[in-house]
Amino acid sequence: MAKVCVIGSSSMDLVVTSQKRPDAGETVLGESFKTVPGGKGANQAVAAARLGAEVTMIGRVGDDHFGRIILDNFKANSVNTQHVEPVTGMESGTAHIVLAEGDNSIVVVKAANDEVTPTYVDKAAEAIRSADIVLIQHEIPAETVVRVSAICAESGTPLLLNPAPVRSVPEEVINHAAYITPNEHEAAVLFEGLAPAEALRKYPNKLFITEGSRGVRYFDGEQEILVPTYKVEAVDTTGAGDTFNAAFAVALAEGMSLQESIRFANRAASLSVTKFGAQGGMPTRREVEESL
Ligand code: ATP
Repeated sequence: MAKVCVIGSSSMDLVVTSQKRPDAGETVLGESFKTVPGGKGANQAVAAARLGAEVTMIGRVGDDHFGRIILDNFKANSVNTQHVEPVTGMESGTAHIVLAEGDNSIVVVKAANDEVTPTYVDKAAEAIRSADIVLIQHEIPAETVVRVSAICAESGTPLLLNPAPVRSVPEEVINHAAYITPNEHEAAVLFEGLAPAEALRKYPNKLFITEGSRGVRYFDGEQEILVPTYKVEAVDTTGAGDTFNAAFAVALAEGMSLQESIRFANRAASLSVTKFGAQGGMPTRREVEESL
């Protein structure tokens, strides 16, 4: 089994649907309310575990009701929670999502996710060093990403950076990362001043730009390659990126080639968009293999 270590956010998504989005000062009646575990770190950990990896999560929750649900959800998905410590006196991260008028509005409260600090990950450094691959995103403090990249560089553990949500990344992190997986918008911000083709050429076999229903683009040292994804009836694309990153990490950790790994990840991510919810749509290993 591939050992995957995920360092990132865990949160509870509070989702309401309503016909109308309330204006400032207005109250409207909604139609439904749901709570579902989310956060990019947690989503990627759950996706990797469903795909058959041995997953250790490094993150934090609050010492509240949501924190307990988030921990239970990790356990139900066989994610190791030894390094998911509740923060005393603090709330769990939450995302407040209004689905109205065909679009969503989201307020994110990071809360306990801000406590995934460099000092905190230092205590879990052994889990990082002993992993076959480490997966990290941007919903935790920037200095933690720098620290994790340094630990990985020291131990030679491959680091996959999913730079979402986008923010600038120090050159040392770009250099230490083995794989970087922005979507097109994130790539444009991250490599400002470089056209996508130039950015890809600058980072051969390292930079993988995901292009939604088109697939994934990278430069193999000689030519630019677009690995197309699979045609599916898309129902809800939430979590497509998280599934892609988890599956890419699992495949790479198992020693699949780059092209095979992208194909595997495209397959997993395309299956995820055929069902509702981020974690709700994440496929099992068997579902991916049966449809490859
Ligand atoms: P999100 O934020 O919605 O989770 P993202 O913006 O990070 O996603 P995308 O580039 O939209 O990332 O999608 C990631 C991958 O998911 C794509 O490279 C592709 O493999 C798969 N994917 C996304 N949308 C579709 C789709 N409509 N049909 C098939 N595959 C898809």
